[in-house]
Amino acid sequence: MQTPVTRRDFLGSALLASGAALLGPLTPEQLLAQQDDFTGYGGVSEYNPSNGNTLRVLQAGHQIRDSVYDPLPKDIIEAGEIYDCVIVGGGISGLAAALFLHRRARPGAKSLVLENHPIFGGEAKQNEFLVDGQRLVAHQGSAIYQLQEPRSFLAQFYDSIGMKTPKLTYQKWTGPEPEMPLSRTPYDAVGMDHGQYGFWFGAKFGHKPGMWVMDPVRKKLEGAPISASNRAEWLRWLMGTPVEDKKFEHPKFEGDAISRYLDSITLERHYMERFGLSQETVRTFLSPVEGGGSGLGPDALSAYSEYAYETLHPSADEAGETDQMFPGGNTTIARLIVKSLNTLAIDGPNSIEGVSRNYVNFAALDSSEAPARIRLGATVISVQHDGDPAKASSVSIIYEKDGKLYRVKTHSAVIAGGSWTAKHIVKDLPETHRSAYAGFYRSPCLMANVAVRNWRFLYNMGLSGCRWFDGLIGNYMEVRKLALTGQAAATIGPDSPIVLSLKILNMSGSSVSSSVTCSRTQASMPSATLPESFSIAGGMPI
Ligand SMILES: Cc1cc2nc3c(=O)[nH]c(=O)nc-3n(C[C@H](O)[C@H](O)[C@H](O)COP(=O)(O)OP(=O)(O)OC[C@H]3O[C@@H](n4cnc5c(N)ncnc54)[C@H](O)[C@@H]3O)c2cc1C
Repeated sequence: MQTPVTRRDFLGSALLASGAALLGPLTPEQLLAQQDDFTGYGGVSEYNPSNGNTLRVLQAGHQIRDSVYDPLPKDIIEAGEIYDCVIVGGGISGLAAALFLHRRARPGAKSLVLENHPIFGGEAKQNEFLVDGQRLVAHQGSAIYQLQEPRSFLAQFYDSIGMKTPKLTYQKWTGPEPEMPLSRTPYDAVGMDHGQYGFWFGAKFGHKPGMWVMDPVRKKLEGAPISASNRAEWLRWLMGTPVEDKKFEHPKFEGDAISRYLDSITLERHYMERFGLSQETVRTFLSPVEGGGSGLGPDALSAYSEYAYETLHPSADEAGETDQMFPGGNTTIARLIVKSLNTLAIDGPNSIEGVSRNYVNFAALDSSEAPARIRLGATVISVQHDGDPAKASSVSIIYEKDGKLYRVKTHSAVIAGGSWTAKHIVKDLPETHRSAYAGFYRSPCLMANVAVRNWRFLYNMGLSGCRWFDGLIGNYMEVRKLALTGQAAATIGPDSPIVLSLKILNMSGSSVSSSVTCSRTQASMPSATLPESFSIAGGMPI
């Protein structure tokens, strides 16, 4: 693992070989030949050409970063279109902006969403596989959403887009063998509570190829090849037992004194204070998965990031479970928004089942008749007021599509992409905003979905999930029972085909390596530390 691994190496060799065997008559080589070297296999159906940041998206982003369009070329085509609002970015934020505009602006207001990927959704996209004739779906990025307080703003929004039953029903167990409780999301790790979870320790811990420590929490890390102090500290953390003299109060609301204090220290320091952990324990066992799997490790994240979630989403059902997940993650939410915006955009009814089962009508997305147009494969390279920003009545938006540059005019614009893109494309951004943006950092993330014909190999080992700590690809995986939205089979057992999702965050070695010393309060993450060979799952790579 000291050798750099490219995205193609990983997607191509490790996974595609196994995936292809499941996916029909094409060999791995034939499947790879359909894609460019960078992009790799994209699954089947309408998300096939949009598996994360493809080579095309990456190159368009790098052209912006490298100032290829500075100064603007002369051969810009005037599209002759004038909008009330142009929205840059067709992720959930941009789509929701278009929907709010459509619902609240004067009748007949015209808007346009410009999105650089071949399909809308941003992080909220999915991969689809065909395994033995069965369609399997898994999330690319954004996975879970939360139940909301009844009548809250978000609950009403969910309802308004067709999410009438936000609490989902999940697959039931099938087969003669004893049931294994399964997680609903990649993050639940319910196996920890049922003795069906394993930790894998490999060469880094003196074991070749490696050894399992089963039921690690209840068996108190018995047999783990680690020092006694590491064991004691880690167990405290795993069991949520604070050090005795450390009273800890959770923040009650965002901005209270506790949350402000937490936001002034790193998550690593907080773990060290609250659970009495050494820095070594945090960096060896809690990174980069903990801290929400945000890419950066606890050394870089604000301690408040651990609690922001519970502060923002306090609602839970009777079972204390707030997190919900569609088979393809929040893809379904993006599709519901698009369907609410333009009923012709997706066939069938405006319901969870409707948008899950039916296909996108791509021609309808950018139709001049559409209440809000969505233009795909369009990378915005410049957003600039026409004249003095304080007085200008219009903004020029220039985008690249199929190798040509186009200009549209608008009375307002919403930039719903990442700040790392916005700071390049918004030409008359006030200096205060520009310097604020300079304080934001991003880290790479690769999601890999692996379709397997069955998961009996895990069931037979007594595992529904596991975690590993060796700097190998990914850190954890989980067998999930899927929500019943018309996509998945009603039942699941060890012989069911499933998709295992790997979230690969430690691509620059470790997110807490000394070359990545990013924190909110100090230091920076030089872009040179990001491996060129990986694309960014979030937003657009620049
Ligand atoms: C790996 C990962 C997992 C996540 N998991 C969850 C989760 O489980 N639950 C959750 O709620 N949130 C999750 N998130 C956060 C998630 O990203 C947000 O909830 C939400 O999807 C973000 O939507 P967005 O529209 O703001 O941004 P994005 O989804 O990033 O969409 C922005 C879109 O704008 C496009 N764009 C950017 N610049 C341009 C340009 N110049 N021209 C044209 N298009 C452009 C981008 O390519 C992208 O498609 C996750 C994020 C990541 C990275």
